[in-house]
Amino acid sequence: MDAEGLSADELFCFLKAKRNEDRSYSHILSSMCTTPHPVAVQAHNLFMETNLGDPGLFPGTAQLEDRLIRWFADLYQEPSAGGCTTSGGTESNIQVLRFCKKTKQVKNPNIIVPASAHFSFEKACGMMDVEMRVAPIDDQYRMIPDATGELIDKNTCCIVSVAGTTEYGMTDPIPALGKLAEQEGVHLHVDAAFGGYVLPFIDHAPPFDFSVPGVGSISVDPHKMGMSTIPSGILMVRDERVFCNLLVETPYLTTKQAYSLTGTRPGASVAAAYAVMAYLGRTGMKALVTGCMENTRRLIEGMEAFGVPRKVTPDVNVATFDHVSVPSPWTVSYTRKGDLRIVCMPHVTRDVVESFLTDFGESYVSHSN
Ligand code: PLP
Repeated sequence: MDAEGLSADELFCFLKAKRNEDRSYSHILSSMCTTPHPVAVQAHNLFMETNLGDPGLFPGTAQLEDRLIRWFADLYQEPSAGGCTTSGGTESNIQVLRFCKKTKQVKNPNIIVPASAHFSFEKACGMMDVEMRVAPIDDQYRMIPDATGELIDKNTCCIVSVAGTTEYGMTDPIPALGKLAEQEGVHLHVDAAFGGYVLPFIDHAPPFDFSVPGVGSISVDPHKMGMSTIPSGILMVRDERVFCNLLVETPYLTTKQAYSLTGTRPGASVAAAYAVMAYLGRTGMKALVTGCMENTRRLIEGMEAFGVPRKVTPDVNVATFDHVSVPSPWTVSYTRKGDLRIVCMPHVTRDVVESFLTDFGESYVSHSN
């Protein structure tokens, strides 16, 4: 840091130059984040300084968090469900492991995750000294319930399933896993960080929520398909009492106890998540998701017309294909198996899909000749 500060003009000239070095979402096809909805930005700015870590100081903001949790309880078909906001999918998954480990109280706890699970579980297990057992997935990239059952023992404190996998957009057979979890008396967590904002708005979507017996918790991220600002996650639990094991005394705050992982917690992105859902309503959310799913289908159809086959037909707006290169400046990603992966987020509009297909077609044909 320099001894003397910059003028505001100098400072913002520098900051703008740095911001201009960032990629624009216009050609990003690899991200599960997106341009926030304009009402999210407006709400975020309004609540910029609020801190949900000390909710007694910000009772209005705290009410927005409560309302958001009530909406998700309804959406996930268990009106008595509880929950809280987090910074995103990783923190939600860590919190699940924390309460599962505390509840189970065994010396060498383990959890079972599908081979398709997000890497946040590896972090969570490492932090908490929990063994991570990996269950195989089938040729449609879905967790195999029988093989999962074989990994359970008396030290298993959680089975993790995924609704809308990060890489292939698939949903595990959650009813069968719920049955297994109930039989074995093990907590079942559904990681719906991505799919939790998509599946409720799709007709004939695979079941994943609290209407499925055995599902104990669900994580979902407003900063992904919820078009909120970063950072925002939500952790829903069927029975709020699981949080009791995480309570610590908070002597100098307006509340006496807290179970959240972080202390200071942003109210701004919670207000932003609330704003998007309040503004769009169920009809608007359905229209948003329908558009993303239509664009995903169009992309798959377009790529297959060039002779690049899909890997699977996804449950959510993530399309995967045999490995091929794409022309710049398009930014795509590749799965751990090397398959091309494109996420049709709201910023990936129909025009963007058509423009990508045109560019891809030209470069693919010229490379094949
Ligand atoms: N779970 C799933 C299924 C995800 O796709 C992701 C991120 O893409 C996460 C968890 C982690 O979320 P975050 O990056 O918000 O911590």
